[in-house]
Amino acid sequence: MIINGQFNIGHICTRKQCELGRSEKVAMRWISQHMEQTDYTFAELDRQTNRFANVLAHLGFAPGDIFFTFLPKMPEQFFAFLGTLKLQAIAGTLFSNFGEEALLDRLGDSKAKGIITKKSFLKKIGRIRDQLPNLRYVIVVDIDQHQSDDILSYDRLMAEASDHFTVASTSADTPSVLHYTSGSTGKPKGVQHVHGSILSQNMTAREILQLSEDDVYWCTADQGWVTGTSYGIIGPWSIGATQVHFGGGYNAEHWFDILQREKITVWYSAPTALRMLLKEEPELFARCDLSSLRHIFSVGEPLNPEVIHWARRTLNRDIYDTWFQTETGAIMIANRPGIEVRPGSMGKPAPGIEAAIIADDGSPVPDGEQGNLCVRPGWPSMFVTYLNNDEVYRQKFRGGYYYSGDTAYRDTEGYFWFMGRSDDVINTAGHLVSPFEVESALLEIPEIAESGVIGAPDELLFEKVVAYIALHDNCEYSPQLELKIRLHVSNKASTIATPQEIFVVDKIPKNKSGKIMRRVLKARYLGTDAGDLSTMEE
Ligand code: ATP
Ligand code: MG
Repeated sequence: MIINGQFNIGHICTRKQCELGRSEKVAMRWISQHMEQTDYTFAELDRQTNRFANVLAHLGFAPGDIFFTFLPKMPEQFFAFLGTLKLQAIAGTLFSNFGEEALLDRLGDSKAKGIITKKSFLKKIGRIRDQLPNLRYVIVVDIDQHQSDDILSYDRLMAEASDHFTVASTSADTPSVLHYTSGSTGKPKGVQHVHGSILSQNMTAREILQLSEDDVYWCTADQGWVTGTSYGIIGPWSIGATQVHFGGGYNAEHWFDILQREKITVWYSAPTALRMLLKEEPELFARCDLSSLRHIFSVGEPLNPEVIHWARRTLNRDIYDTWFQTETGAIMIANRPGIEVRPGSMGKPAPGIEAAIIADDGSPVPDGEQGNLCVRPGWPSMFVTYLNNDEVYRQKFRGGYYYSGDTAYRDTEGYFWFMGRSDDVINTAGHLVSPFEVESALLEIPEIAESGVIGAPDELLFEKVVAYIALHDNCEYSPQLELKIRLHVSNKASTIATPQEIFVVDKIPKNKSGKIMRRVLKARYLGTDAGDLSTMEE
């Protein structure tokens, strides 16, 4: 990608694509929840984002002001996001299912100046508005008249705005996107990125996702999370690929319909969704023609080996697991075509990324042994701070490494294997047990639909392994099943990893990005306060 000193993400994803001859190419094929579709060319994307930049400028927004999208996946969300960046304002995204508390936390912490939302969300904002003195404007996509001086109609504003906007020269270190983390381990942190991050997103979209301008690409992630912006907006459009965006939620029939009909070539999804597909009837996949689909990728949580075996059996292809964080802004470690997939491993570092396993005292850990998963800083998409929390930010860097907070080991051939969050790894009878490994073993038992594994204090063992499981419909817990569980985990993982206690629950608590909330299980077990639950799934 030739940058020529203009790093502006909004510019590179739209105007620059037009300059490269892609004006009339479809940038976004929008498919609504009801499966109606609308195409937007790069020229249209450029116009709409220019208009939105003009809208914000007209309202008095300046570079550095924070503007959030609080919308379900819909075209206006993409226009607002890139338009905000064109103005050099900071674009934050909020997951559309957030409740008042979650909104208040993020809008308050960041001192956001504006937000774009839809009518049915106005009530939520209304109830917290008096606690948000910095929030000047609320722009609403589905009202046709301004409601007051500061609750404004998107359509009216856009109709009055010009198609032309000159993006000011933007340097690599100009602040760009603000994301709050998923809150799996505690209170969500505001992660600040810069425009230069597009270099990493572009490079990894090409080198890992193997995207080119000829691809029809679909990323199922919500734009509220880093994957939804890095790989659901920036990376693919910086390459000029066509992105399909679907406004509906998980629906296996619709999903396979889209994959087939749109001839999706590269698909990026997440373990929760893939685990749900695995439970569907195999006929669904058998009658689907996926011959256009070159690659499937996954991110966000460890990809259980069982899911890869299922994909090999049922879809006749691999799924490539990728690892990164809100903080890293782009894929750091990944499986990809051309490297043999080892089910259960996250793969190898992306080109130019130096990853290492480091002990708590800062010394390197030998291959095969577990330690802190660290990355050498210096990649362009590295976050520049945690908003209002520079101290915690600084603590993440020691001895020339960024400490991810995850635990892993590297095998002798350079593959990285995820063990858990540093706080989640279970220390039992002098051994470290990975909750993920036990969960993966549990998932191989046909009766078990979901599982979450934690360590709980134990006098004898220091910590014991406690498993929460949810069973498939029409399966019942029985002493036989319990025996089966114990035998299977002890065979697959180790006798030490065998759960000491098993609880059957209806659902495993997850956060809104689909990650298992082990700290909630732990609090439930210990009868303590579970802490910040703003990102918890309903
Ligand atoms: P918080 O930081 O608020 O606790 P979070 O870490 O879940 O939330 P994200 O930045 O969205 O917030 O998620 C990054 C984390 O997700 C990684 O640190 C890792 O624990 C997990 N993760 C992401 N991809 C993978 C993967 N391929 N395999 C294993 N874990 C993964
Ligand atoms: Mg994290």
